[in-house]
Amino acid sequence: MIFDVSVGILGGGQLGKMLIQKANQLGIPCSFLESQKDCPAAGVTPNAFLGDIRSYDDVLAFGKNHTHITVEIENVNLDALYQLEKDGIQVHPAPSVLETIKNKGRQKDFYQKHHIPSADYKVFGNKSELISFCNINKIEFPLVIKATEGGYDGKGVWVVQSEADLNALPEMEYLLEEKIEIQKELSVICYSNGKTIDCFETVEMLFDPKANLVDFLLHPAQISEAINTEAQNIAKQVCKNFGLQGLLAVELFLTKDNTILVNEVAPRPHNSAHHTIESHSVSQYEAHLRGVLGLDFQPNKSNVNFAAMLNLLGEDNHDGKATIQGVNFIENSPGTQLHWYGKTQTKPKRKMGHITMVSNNLSDLLSTSDNLKKNVKIISTNG
Ligand code: ADP
Repeated sequence: MIFDVSVGILGGGQLGKMLIQKANQLGIPCSFLESQKDCPAAGVTPNAFLGDIRSYDDVLAFGKNHTHITVEIENVNLDALYQLEKDGIQVHPAPSVLETIKNKGRQKDFYQKHHIPSADYKVFGNKSELISFCNINKIEFPLVIKATEGGYDGKGVWVVQSEADLNALPEMEYLLEEKIEIQKELSVICYSNGKTIDCFETVEMLFDPKANLVDFLLHPAQISEAINTEAQNIAKQVCKNFGLQGLLAVELFLTKDNTILVNEVAPRPHNSAHHTIESHSVSQYEAHLRGVLGLDFQPNKSNVNFAAMLNLLGEDNHDGKATIQGVNFIENSPGTQLHWYGKTQTKPKRKMGHITMVSNNLSDLLSTSDNLKKNVKIISTNG
């Protein structure tokens, strides 16, 4: 054992798995809490605790066995985390940060309070309040409406085109947001150890419009140096305002008139920095562990000019035992690396793995990506 600590991770999905793989390499003792026995993280450590990350008792019992607690997903029991913090356990991200982020209305209030640029918004407790506000103020369609809680990967975000669509929304607390004319969707991943804040280069994310999931990611974003610097400065400011230790993924919109707005943040490893495993001397997973433990950061260098990440999502009409079709295309493409998450069952649009591609030449990288996108499919053997 190199480190005299014990890190407990809430959640055992693919982000937990990649975090544990890095902890194993560094000699950082690590375990995780998860209710699914055959989850991705179970493939890389025997230190699995079966339990519900949303249960007070399960999180408290798990947390007490560790010096540090972190998360790979935000939807965890906050009361237990507050108790663990009181008991002297290091909890990063802090439960107060998770509480702010969990509710999109509270998150937007936070940006407003700290003068962080973000789309205009208003929160409504129920549908009739939302509808009457839209009617009285003659708000024009399309509207961007979000569930304040419980949404993920675009589920819980609606671009409402008509009054009929508005009336058909499920009942909940809503965030109404100004519809932004988006030029590019960007992401900056910051990391802090409580003393210093640093960040990776800005990346650009392309979404699968059908799945509303990041489909393809390019590092570095093809933007001017001035916009890159501004995006990084805004992201670091958000990280500083949260007083965070560990990673903070800051998702941004670059508007058509070149303004940068914060969309939302995630205080954990993020899809938009998977490529850092291959492209950087310190990956997002190492940065998160070092931040959570309050360790100094090593100088972080990019090993290549360009990197890209292609998400491998379950094909439509395939539900069952998962298999990957076209793996030979990955093997025959230089500079590529498959990350298979180890989920046995595929479903339409389920995140099953990703491919990282690195190259010093952008057009080579884009043609490899096109080739893999066409030929690599996640299907079910019985589908
Ligand atoms: P989630 O938390 O489910 O990922 P987001 O708030 O990130 O949801 O929204 C999902 C996607 O919807 C964004 O990536 C973007 O493409 C689009 N979107 C979100 N908010 C706006 C907005 N105000 N204007 C235009 N498009 C938006």
